[in-house]
Amino acid sequence: MAPLAVIVLSGAFLTASQGIWAEAGPVAQTVFTVALLAAGALAAVLSPGSGAKNLPAGFLSKRDLMTEASQQLHANAEATVILCELTGLSWTSRSEQPETVRRALEDALASLCARLPTGAQAAQWSEERFVILLPASRDAMAALNLARELCAGLASGPAFAGLATAIGCHAGIALAPADGQSFGALVNNAELALAEARRQQQPGYGFYAPGMSAASERRTALQRAIREAVSGDALRLDFQPVYAMSGGELTGFEALIRLHDPELGPIPPSEFIPLAEEAGLIVDIGAWAIEEACRVAAQWPPHLVAAVNLSPAQFHTGTLITGVRRALQRHALPAYRLEVEITEGTLMTDSELVLSQLRRLRDMGVGVALDDFGTGYSSLSYLCKFPFSKLKIDRSFAAELDHSASARSVLRAIVKLGHGLGMTVTAEGIETKRQLSLLRGIGCDLAQGYLLGRPAPLSDVAAVILRNFAQQLARKPRAVKSAAAA
Ligand code: C2E
Ligand code: MG
Ligand code: MG
Repeated sequence: MAPLAVIVLSGAFLTASQGIWAEAGPVAQTVFTVALLAAGALAAVLSPGSGAKNLPAGFLSKRDLMTEASQQLHANAEATVILCELTGLSWTSRSEQPETVRRALEDALASLCARLPTGAQAAQWSEERFVILLPASRDAMAALNLARELCAGLASGPAFAGLATAIGCHAGIALAPADGQSFGALVNNAELALAEARRQQQPGYGFYAPGMSAASERRTALQRAIREAVSGDALRLDFQPVYAMSGGELTGFEALIRLHDPELGPIPPSEFIPLAEEAGLIVDIGAWAIEEACRVAAQWPPHLVAAVNLSPAQFHTGTLITGVRRALQRHALPAYRLEVEITEGTLMTDSELVLSQLRRLRDMGVGVALDDFGTGYSSLSYLCKFPFSKLKIDRSFAAELDHSASARSVLRAIVKLGHGLGMTVTAEGIETKRQLSLLRGIGCDLAQGYLLGRPAPLSDVAAVILRNFAQQLARKPRAVKSAAAA
């Protein structure tokens, strides 16, 4: 058993210390290469499940690709490495038979192989990754064009093996000698570029850049913080109030997640949610947020709604609907008092899978809001396909209103569209009185923004509710008088 243990440790150690190896001398890099091979071989043995059995003709073994690369680097010190990663397979493997996933993987690899230019060589690197080595004569532009073609080719390609989930591709590129002088260093840096491309989503491929190592260290620290927060007690929800435009009644709160790490300080959701998604932790975090929002909302007056943001991954677990139902039951919260918010990006991951679950939530009585509308593709087809109960207009519109007449026209059209489809329309990001009055004039129904209330800890929520209650009471006599006069 001893050799096995050494190899496993080597694999983990290598992943954790990429930057160091990239800087190391030739002996260390040889050790790196051998250990990389060993770790890869072990991974292949340990996870035979749905891996491709029949690699396309033209694919080299990992060892042969390394030899090729070393010879190429030795001969002219130039080489280009593209590390590609197929996406969608892990979700698929939860719902499909291993054999189907394996065939889909093989089909996808064959499709990619068919796109390789003459002289390029490729090897499967792990179950979902493969490395392409371009001939030294190829320049950076050729590498970029190939990466673009591979990513676009898969995205527009057939549904492999009849899978419901689309298989896509991300790619990271590293060029010798600038990005590393050994194959190991190039693969490491291509891996950093791949991670960045994955995070950016669009265009889905990109070059290694020197700052990526530091960024990667920060990410490692953040991932540690997220893991600790999930297993410990460091996550909490803040609540931002939402008010009716006419009358100013409080209608509810949006629950916004907060993470405070003792070492790193407060970490904004825009930074840690993508990382939690990457690390597969968002499902647990999302389930916790639903549970916590229901628990808290159950203590509010019965007309107030709690809105919770959902991530795409939550729709791929198969547990979202039961999780929501259980949370509502556990806290005796009527379904109409919970609202979920999704962005268009979620619909794009697998719209049928997402839409069918949203329909079930709507059937249960849970509100479903389309968040940040106006920033992404703003696809009207989604609006027609699914009866969202609410449209939330992205805060960039509020910011534009002051100086852009065309933003006002677009907004007017969006509000009309939302109302025409029976949705309530919320304006987000209201920071000034002028924005509030313009958005009210345009016909938005609900208002949310720093002007009216910043996201606040749970301990402040009762004060917000009481203040609004008092304000509404103070308004009532006038309303009665004017009714009597009329
Ligand atoms: P979002 O759902 O669109 O939430 C609104 C964001 O706008 C919040 O940022 C809020 O603090 C900010 N905001 C509200 N009013 C104003 C304003 O007047 N001016 C400006 N500049 N900003 C305003 P936050 O809390 O940083 O959250 C960012 C995003 O993180 C959220 O955008 C949401 O997409 C995501 N998020 C937050 N909590 C969760 C969660 O529990 N689960 C998931 N999946 N995503 C979450
Ligand atoms: Mg939201
Ligand atoms: Mg929003």
